[in-house]
Amino acid sequence: MKKEIYKSLERIVGSEHITDRDTERQCYAYDATQIQAWPDCVVFPGTSQEISEILQLANKLHFPVVPRGAGSGMSGGSVPIQGGVVLVLLRMNRIKEIDPNNFLTVVEPGVITRDLQLAVEAKGLFYPPDPSSSHFSTLGGNLAECAGGGRAVKYGVTRDYVLGLEVVLPSGEIIKTGVQTAKGVVGYDLTRLMVGSEGTLGIITRMVLKLIPLPEARQTILAFFDQMALATQTVVEIFRAGILPSILEFMDHSSIACVEEYLKLGLPTQAQALLLIEVDGDREAVVRQGETIQLICRQIGAGRVKMAATPLEAEELWKARRAISPALFRLRPNKINEDVVVPRDKIPEAIERFQEIGRRLDLLIVGFGHAGDGNIHVNVMFDGKKTDEKERAQKAVVEIFKTVLELGGTLSGEHGIGLTKAPFLTLELDPISLNLMKKIKDLFDPNHILNPGKIFS
Ligand SMILES: Cc1cc2nc3c(=O)[nH]c(=O)nc-3n(C[C@H](O)[C@H](O)[C@H](O)COP(=O)(O)OP(=O)(O)OC[C@H]3O[C@@H](n4cnc5c(N)ncnc54)[C@H](O)[C@@H]3O)c2cc1C
Repeated sequence: MKKEIYKSLERIVGSEHITDRDTERQCYAYDATQIQAWPDCVVFPGTSQEISEILQLANKLHFPVVPRGAGSGMSGGSVPIQGGVVLVLLRMNRIKEIDPNNFLTVVEPGVITRDLQLAVEAKGLFYPPDPSSSHFSTLGGNLAECAGGGRAVKYGVTRDYVLGLEVVLPSGEIIKTGVQTAKGVVGYDLTRLMVGSEGTLGIITRMVLKLIPLPEARQTILAFFDQMALATQTVVEIFRAGILPSILEFMDHSSIACVEEYLKLGLPTQAQALLLIEVDGDREAVVRQGETIQLICRQIGAGRVKMAATPLEAEELWKARRAISPALFRLRPNKINEDVVVPRDKIPEAIERFQEIGRRLDLLIVGFGHAGDGNIHVNVMFDGKKTDEKERAQKAVVEIFKTVLELGGTLSGEHGIGLTKAPFLTLELDPISLNLMKKIKDLFDPNHILNPGKIFS
């Protein structure tokens, strides 16, 4: 990066909020995908106005700007693949307002998801979107990816809680979208366009989020099955009984065995599937629903069913699910993690077909995820040092995507396209839609200075 550009950026944010030291550049070169590309410098803006000035400069001098929250993204969204500036939004981390009368909150993008959840829960309110990364991911990153998480089955995803935004456009202009009311239908829905746009159309600098009352009680149940089909049948029966669980997670045989090997929790390693189920709401209803779910699990043939009597016991039941990610790395040093979605009654067929792909390509493929909404986290395990194994893993991903589309599914439920899925966009989108999306990008960002190289390969 030219010295003059660095100096201009320094003038905008102050010398203590910009760096081009190698150690810092390296820290902001990656996200959770392990893909790395070093930025020329890292900038930590404190206001929307500073971001506006940075984007005006980027447009004038044509350098890339890549917004970044916590860098926990799973598709390479915050990796500065073309260099330039990584714009870290962590300084803008104020919860500006929690309004119990109107059930809403106004926050800046650098707030950590869990911090907002705790702050509103202290006032008897609830912000349901709950990605497993909630303890470290930012709300800006959650909105940019339209993060999901376990509670999506009952409460929906991030976009369902966004009422309005302040956005700095690539031109540097600052706009307000949406409303600060419960409803609003004036003009095109730019708020929805921004949510899930992966930092390619604008930088979110302020958000108005919807809240709901905090559920009174919660009940957690863990059940093991000898066949994946029995677990799926259980899911269907739970819905048929008129129960909408707040969590409905599953793990396949390989992930159960892998976690057991890692933590020695006493899990039955012969089990083909595990369901982790939670219901929440009014105390009496929760007790009743918990008992009905236990009964359904047993009637369908669950080998073992456990119901938590206390929050501590519930935490014990969660241990296996939380341990999957670290446990997987004991199997192979590298993994490709995809977050495909299929109609939920197609989960057993999808898992069986993924296993068949694994057998044929001599790879270990592990599946777990959100049984309630059909969102499967498929992990293709490999050793990156073995070229042949890596190539087979990449081949497996293409076959997995094709299988998912054949089953009526979609390539990504919550992690976004970013860099990793960009080459596969044409598998799912028709050329006319894709072209329309590219035109939208051109309209917002004619010089392609904002997060270039993402979504469209
Ligand atoms: C262990 C683990 C568990 C996870 N579990 C889940 C899960 O359950 N559900 C789920 O959905 N995801 C999950 N993720 C993925 C990830 O945490 C989410 O995508 C999260 O929303 C990213 O937030 P971040 O702050 O880390 O964003 P980053 O990774 O920094 O950025 C993500 C994208 O958002 C853009 N961006 C960031 N801030 C802004 C902003 N203010 N304005 C515009 N664009 C912006 C970036 O340019 C990038 O494209 C998980 C990740 C890990 C590592």
